[in-house]
Amino acid sequence: MLRIQNYLNGQLVPPQAGRYLDNVDPATGQVYGQIPDSGPEDVAAAVAAAEAALPAWRALPAEDRGRLLVKIADLIDASLDHLARAESQDNGKPLSLARVMDIPRAASNFHFFGTAAGHFATEAHVQEGVAVNYTVRHPVGVVGCISPWNLPLYLFTWKIAPALAVGCCVVAKPSEITPATAFLLSELCIEAGLPAGVLNIIHGNGPNCGQAIVEHPSIKAISFTGGTATGRHLARTAAPMFKKLSLELGGKNPNIIFADCDLAAAVATSIRSSFANQGQICLCGSRIFIERPIYEAFKTEFLKQLQDQKIGDPLEADTKQGALVSEAHLHKVLAYIKLAHEEGGTLLAGGHRVTVPGRCEGGYFLEPTVFENLPFDCRTNQEEIFGPVVTLTPFDTDEEALLMANSTDYGLSATIWTRDLQRAHRVAHQLHSGIVWINTWLHRDLRTPFGGMKNSGVGREGGLEALRFFTEAQNVCVKL
Ligand code: NAD
Repeated sequence: MLRIQNYLNGQLVPPQAGRYLDNVDPATGQVYGQIPDSGPEDVAAAVAAAEAALPAWRALPAEDRGRLLVKIADLIDASLDHLARAESQDNGKPLSLARVMDIPRAASNFHFFGTAAGHFATEAHVQEGVAVNYTVRHPVGVVGCISPWNLPLYLFTWKIAPALAVGCCVVAKPSEITPATAFLLSELCIEAGLPAGVLNIIHGNGPNCGQAIVEHPSIKAISFTGGTATGRHLARTAAPMFKKLSLELGGKNPNIIFADCDLAAAVATSIRSSFANQGQICLCGSRIFIERPIYEAFKTEFLKQLQDQKIGDPLEADTKQGALVSEAHLHKVLAYIKLAHEEGGTLLAGGHRVTVPGRCEGGYFLEPTVFENLPFDCRTNQEEIFGPVVTLTPFDTDEEALLMANSTDYGLSATIWTRDLQRAHRVAHQLHSGIVWINTWLHRDLRTPFGGMKNSGVGREGGLEALRFFTEAQNVCVKL
């Protein structure tokens, strides 16, 4: 049994109240470990440790902070196998995916922000002959980072690394559903020699542990990734305390397939953008709009390639689709499949729970599911399902595609497939999405602004945006 501990003031310690939650392997349905059920007392101790560590950490030259982060990146790289296995077991995702995506990206996050620390410059505004203004960027102080279960170490490090790079100290909480790699990260931070208290990782559930982080008066900024409803609740708590907030929330992303696209590439990538990580990526495209002349051709090829989407034991090399993250989430997605039937959708593929024989008999597996004939404004097409369920819908004009694509409360990402350069740009600029991909998907450059419009979030992460978020700008004006 893996018994996870909190990382507090440089040490691995049990939760003060001695309470634990079960950790379930979604591929087997079996409890395989325990997680601290931490509360406000553990968060308070973490904040005290972070406050004590802050003066020395912020005073350290940026280059030295950066070196430590790069060392952690190297240790993540060296632990690839171990971390990928832990991620796969905790989350249900294929081991092959964790090996090429989750863990390498976690290392990249530390490497990218570790090196960025030494390049982060501020602005000067010169009023010729009158005055010089320059901006000093002070670290905000002690900050909170709260992350979800779908890309556990990937998103956890995406927040922590920029905060540490600019000289903040961090109290972080991974999702209680997938805490394993955050725990292993704490061991790597100790090995790297990160000073005590600079990063504290407290495990526990949202209402008890996460809420205590958001409410703590000494935590000056919160970077949160998770569901829109949780984000709304968080904002309600944090706003009256005037905390800085970065909210990366849900999505219901459109794929717009124009008739002049490279059909083979559009289909192959749409399979990935629909079902990668069991459709549990905030950037997955769950509404596929296809220009009518190629609707049937796209559908036929999409359903054909779906046959290769092998569902199975996440540890097997040829598995494309592993288990959904939890029994509760499986039932949520199944409820949406029932709703899609009730709303008059035609089921083209999937729709059922799958039993994988042997070791994974009790796991939470679900067929990749495709519907058509659903109105663009029905609940199935408006609400985030966050599972392997997509809808196909034909369109006739650019205006109709844009109307349907922009019709939800969300605005995280969108994908366009066309060979017409002008149309691609024109449509991209009219989409209400923080991220637009043209003829590609999930292509990431860590320097670019990342985040959503509308109910998909507030603020941007990535590159300088993240470094700026974790700093307070101070203008100093000197009269000449
Ligand atoms: P969630 O909102 O249930 O939980 C996210 C985190 O918030 C967890 O660590 C949870 O313990 C914590 N939390 C819950 N209640 C809290 C509270 N009252 N105070 C403080 N913390 C609290 O989300 P989830 O189910 O873990 O993740 C799935 C959601 O995340 C989806 O909606 C998905 O779209 C979204 N997501 C968004 C992005 C993005 O970049 N925009 C990326 C990944 C996932």
